[in-house]
Amino acid sequence: MEPDIAELKRMIEEAARIVIFTGAGISTESGIPDFRSPGGIWTRMRPIDFSEFMSSEEARRESWRRRFATDGTMREAEPNRGHRAVATLMNRGKAGAVITQNIDGLHQASGVPADRVIELHGNTTYAHCLDCGQRYEIEDIRIEFERTGDAPNCQLCGGYVKTATISFGQSMPPAAMIRAEQETLGCDLFIAIGSSLVVYPAAGFPELAARNGIRLVILNREPTGLDPYADLVLHREIGVTLGEAVGNN
Ligand SMILES: [Zn+2]
Repeated sequence: MEPDIAELKRMIEEAARIVIFTGAGISTESGIPDFRSPGGIWTRMRPIDFSEFMSSEEARRESWRRRFATDGTMREAEPNRGHRAVATLMNRGKAGAVITQNIDGLHQASGVPADRVIELHGNTTYAHCLDCGQRYEIEDIRIEFERTGDAPNCQLCGGYVKTATISFGQSMPPAAMIRAEQETLGCDLFIAIGSSLVVYPAAGFPELAARNGIRLVILNREPTGLDPYADLVLHREIGVTLGEAVGNN
C-alpha cells in the first residue's frame, strides 16, 4: 500500500466519528459528467436560474428538455467503488453522515440510508411541487411532457413542478445547511472527496472543520484551494484509493 493511502487507512481507524463530504469527482467514475468542468454542460449552455424558471414558461420547458436529455445517463449510472467504500464506513458506524454536492442519488443507491445523506444541491432523480412539496416521478413527467410539450404543473395545487435540485439563484435548503454544520462540528475526521472546493457555501464545511481543529483529509485528482489546510492530501483516483483504505471492492 502506498504511504499516503496507508496514512488515510490509519486516520480512518483512529477516528471516532467521520463526516464524508463528496463532490462531482466521486460520480464521474460512474459516468456522470461534471457539469462545471471544462467542456461540461454549464460551460456550453447558460444555466437557467431560479428566477427565470419561476417567471418564464419557455424557461421551464427548456429546463425540462435539458433534464430529459441527461435522463439516460442518470438512469444507467450505478454506484462505483468509491460510493461503496463510503457506504461501508456508514454501515460500520464509523461515519455518521454524508454531505454531498451531488444530485444523482448514488450514495442512497449504494446503501447509505437516505436520512444520513445531506444533499446541499438537492436531487435530480425525482421532482416536486415548489408550492406544496408533492413528489412526482421523472418518468411520469417525461411521458406527459412528450405528449403535451408543456412543463408540468402540480395536480394538487397548480404550482410549478421542478426537479428537486437547487438551481442557481435558489436559496440553499436551510435544514440541510444546519444539519451539515452540526455534523461537521460533531466529527473528529472530515474527509472531502472529489470536490474542487470552490463552490460556496458548500465548500465552507471543510473550511469550518479545518478552522475548528478537526482533522481534514482531501482526496481529489487535482489540487484544491484548501490543500494547505488539510492534514492529509491525496491527489489520486477516488474509487481505487478509498477502496484500498477502507478495504472493500
Ligand atoms: Zn402542489
